[in-house]
Amino acid sequence: MDIRLTDRINRIEASPTLAVAAEAERYRARGVDVVDFGPGEPDFPTPEHIKDAAIEALRKNFTKYTAVAGIAPLRQAIVEWHAAQFGSVYEPPECVVTVGGKHAIFNAVGVLIDSGDEVLIPAPYWVSFPDIVKYCGGKPVIIETRAADGFQLRAAQVEMAIGPRTRMLIVNSPNNPTGAVVPPEEFARILEVCRRRGIWLLSDECYSHFVYEPAKPFSIGSATEAKGNIIVVGSLSKTFAMTGWRVGYALAPKPVADAIAKLQSQSTSNPTSIAQYAALGALRGSMDSVATMLAEYARRRARIIGGVCELPGVGCSTPDGAFYIFPDVSARLAGGDGIALARQLLEKSHIAVVPGEAFGAPGYIRISYATSMEHIEEGLRRFKQFFAGAAAAL
Ligand code: PLP
Repeated sequence: MDIRLTDRINRIEASPTLAVAAEAERYRARGVDVVDFGPGEPDFPTPEHIKDAAIEALRKNFTKYTAVAGIAPLRQAIVEWHAAQFGSVYEPPECVVTVGGKHAIFNAVGVLIDSGDEVLIPAPYWVSFPDIVKYCGGKPVIIETRAADGFQLRAAQVEMAIGPRTRMLIVNSPNNPTGAVVPPEEFARILEVCRRRGIWLLSDECYSHFVYEPAKPFSIGSATEAKGNIIVVGSLSKTFAMTGWRVGYALAPKPVADAIAKLQSQSTSNPTSIAQYAALGALRGSMDSVATMLAEYARRRARIIGGVCELPGVGCSTPDGAFYIFPDVSARLAGGDGIALARQLLEKSHIAVVPGEAFGAPGYIRISYATSMEHIEEGLRRFKQFFAGAAAAL
């Protein structure tokens, strides 16, 4: 049969970060010892008390459908946790539990963006933002941020990029892939622009708790007077090392939350029941594991930046958040591109990284330090060897 796929699916690409993971997996399957700097996920196990909450839910047979927008105690726990962490004021009807943060973004864009609407996306951007917008019929409009400026997004840039069709700005702070953190004062200015120009500010806070001194966890959702313009997207994936459980949430004005729930009612239905109980255990339980992970990430960040900065012709700044560095390798491309460089790194040195092209930033590579210190040491050793001979290789 002649297989004809829809225009909307043909508008998007498979996630390039997942493609890197698949390629690294193929090498591993052949017995190759890959140092994997690709993954965007904590290498820590889910804390015991969270797993226990899921086991208890299973034992109690909480294995049926739940309310589409999530179980009532979890929606309550999310708004209370968010209030305690960031000083926001949300009510459970303004909260929808989703199948990870990605799903919350997909649904929010799905209910707010019509065909031809423009969505502002600062670059470097997380790979899924433009494709989610495109799938929903919208047009991504990219705002470039610069390495020399610490990849900082400025309110003035947002103001200049807004046109008659602009409906939304997506801000991801701490940022994947750069680790850049928007300072609260600038965030407030960005929000003010959005409010004045009548556009949505979608704030992706998936890395909210991975910020390094002097930066502090921050949510623009704490700007309670402007809640009507804000959609907060959160996730338990990174904060609680729960990537596989697939729990995230959206906090939004009630009509938007209702629309997201309506979309879920005709697509995924509720997120997995036992994962919701695990999430409840996470949000009601101790945050000690988060502090432990952050301290370990800080140690790794210092080591990897120290090592990468020593590589000849590779430039790297110190980001304030997340668990990525985004070095400038443009001087080492020798006529090739980042994709070729990433391929060479994997083939010759068995190091997996994600090329900057995936994030709208050619000339860079993303290195995740959500991996053990031993892997970091071994990776640095291989990078050093590779870059010593790379000019000839590329
Ligand atoms: N937003 C950003 C910036 C991310 O990096 C990710 C995952 O890598 C997500 C959202 C989605 O995470 P999840 O769907 O696991 O909550």
